[in-house]
Parts: sequence; structure tokens; C-alpha cells
Amino acid sequence: LASLKVIPLRTAQKVLGAVVLGSRRPGAYGPEAVRQLEVVVMQAAESIYRARLFEQTERLATTDGLTGLLNHRTFQGRLDEHVAHAERYGKKLSLILCDIDHFKSVNDTYGHPVGDLVLKAVARTLAKEARTTDLVARYGGEEFAVVMPETDAAGALVIAERIRERVARLALDTEQGRLQVTMSLGVATFPADGAKKAALVERADACLYHAKRHGRNRSVAAAALRAPARAAG
Ligand code: GH3
Ligand code: MG
Ligand code: MG
Repeated sequence: LASLKVIPLRTAQKVLGAVVLGSRRPGAYGPEAVRQLEVVVMQAAESIYRARLFEQTERLATTDGLTGLLNHRTFQGRLDEHVAHAERYGKKLSLILCDIDHFKSVNDTYGHPVGDLVLKAVARTLAKEARTTDLVARYGGEEFAVVMPETDAAGALVIAERIRERVARLALDTEQGRLQVTMSLGVATFPADGAKKAALVERADACLYHAKRHGRNRSVAAAALRAPARAAG
């Protein structure tokens, strides 16, 4: 290249990068061209900075700081949308609610910071096992939710079991030795187990409670509450 011009891409607050221009024509970037380019690049930098700031603010508002999963409020709103969509198009939708077993004793034994690491590892496992169309949220302290559009009860139970197995296989080496956790899961499917969001959540929660009462480290689907012999896990 016969001409080269590098213009910093920066705002008053931050340097974002650089714009590099090249031309085979010698002397392509005269003082007037450079002045104009600098104005355009400055405006671009301001736009990029504002867009990133907006993105960051939105992420902080919709996700959970510890795990990066959707937060409870966003989960509720998105589940509303998914239930409305399933209703309108006559589709199924499954919801998994899960809760780490005896998590209080993890904190008591290994300390709160290690508990946080466990929450992060479980969250990563959930995010990995979920499909891109699924929603994964931190429902509460050590409770998580997975919303699976267009998924029937049988399909959801397979995924719940896979999550349960992967979580049980996680191992964290701590100063007090190797730490492993298990998780209980409840699965409810729209519309059979609940034709409204609240009913569906309540049903999944009842299944989760059932899993806790029957030994933990298991997945329970709503159908199993009607026919207990079919409980999995
Ligand atoms: P169960 O098997 O019945 O679910 O027993 P559990 O001990 O898991 O249930 P419980 O609800 O009594 O305890 C939940 C614990 O989760 C208590 C709380 O300190 C812990 N917890 C909630 N949020 C966080 C967090 O952000 N970090 C850590 N480290 N612990 C948390
Ligand atoms: Mg809990
Ligand atoms: Mg728990």
C-alpha cells in the first residue's frame, strides 16, 4: 500500500480500537480527508460505546451475577411468553425445577465461597445440557429452572435425568477433600400438567418436593405422581 492511515477508535471514556485505512494511491489521505475521517470514526466510536453500554446494562438486569443464567424475574417473563406461544400454536412445553440436595451442609462444611463454586459448576452443567432454544434460569438460591419449548414429558424426563447424572458426576477438589453434590428435579409439561403458568410451576414444584421426600438425587415427572411406579432415578 502506498498510503496508510491509522485512526484511534476512542471516546472520551475509553479506547475501543483503531481504524486502519490503506490505499494503493500515494498521498490518498490529505489533511482534509483525514479531518473528515476523524469525525466519522469519532461518531462510530461513540455509537459502539453506547451500544456496548446498553448491552452490558441489559445483561446485568436480566441475568444472575454469580452464574450468568437468567434471573428469576426474567425467567418469569420469558416463561409467560413461552406458555402463551405454546397455547396459541397448540404446542407442548416442559418445565424442570431443580434444587441441589443438602446444599446447606455444603456451605456449613466447605464454606460459602466453595458453595458458590458449586452453584457455578451446576449452572454450567445445566447450560451445557440445555438446547439453544431452552431457557435456563437461577430460580432461587440453589434452585434452577429449565424451560423446554416443544418438548413432551418423556423428552423432558430424559433431559432431567441427564442433568441429574452430570451433576452427580461433578467433582470439586477442596481443602477438605473431594466434594460432590446431587440434585433433585421436578418435571411438568404444558398443557397436561398445568394449562396456566402458575399451575405448571406449582406442578413442577410438587414433583420436586416428591423427589426430595423420596430420597433425593432423582427426577420426578408429573405422570409419576399419578402412577408412582414410574418415578425415575
Ligand atoms: P434440600 O436437600 O432439602 O434442598 O436441603 P438444602 O440444605 O439444600 O435446603 P435449604 O433450603 O435448607 O438450604 C439451601 C441453602 O442454599 C441455604 C443457603 O445458605 C444456600 N444458598 C442460597 N443461595 C446461596 C448462594 O448464592 N451461595 C451459597 N454459597 N449458598 C447459597
Ligand atoms: Mg432450596
Ligand atoms: Mg436444596
